[in-house]
Amino acid sequence: MPGRRRCRRSYAEVPAYPGAVEFTPEELEALRLADIEGLTQIEAAEKMGVSQPTFHRILKEARRKASMAVVGGASIDVTGNVVRTFKCRNCGYSWKEPFTSGIMEAVCPNCGSVISPVRPGRRRRRRGCWKD
Ligand SMILES: [Zn+2]
Repeated sequence: MPGRRRCRRSYAEVPAYPGAVEFTPEELEALRLADIEGLTQIEAAEKMGVSQPTFHRILKEARRKASMAVVGGASIDVTGNVVRTFKCRNCGYSWKEPFTSGIMEAVCPNCGSVISPVRPGRRRRRRGCWKD
């Protein structure tokens, strides 16, 4: 059995940041310049037309949000192209729909039953542990 999981205390279950983390365009640009293009803060600040301390503040906030998304399981809402994955409990059919706020249910296009969205890639409700 490959990839047997160890039982360890899950820190991830303690802090949760529900809802989406929204980045401002400045924060995205700061992340891009600093972490993707690898510019120094002075270079990046110049490109964005802000002072270096201001750039530092923007970058810090952007990284905090990114960490909340990665560690805390918050979803990232940047462009509005967020989709929800639905899976029908009745027939097992799985499909995606554009994320629109407020709608918590969908109708299965396959069998017509009403179901709730599931979060893709999240397994937070683990019960118990596997023992070695
Ligand atoms: Zn169905």
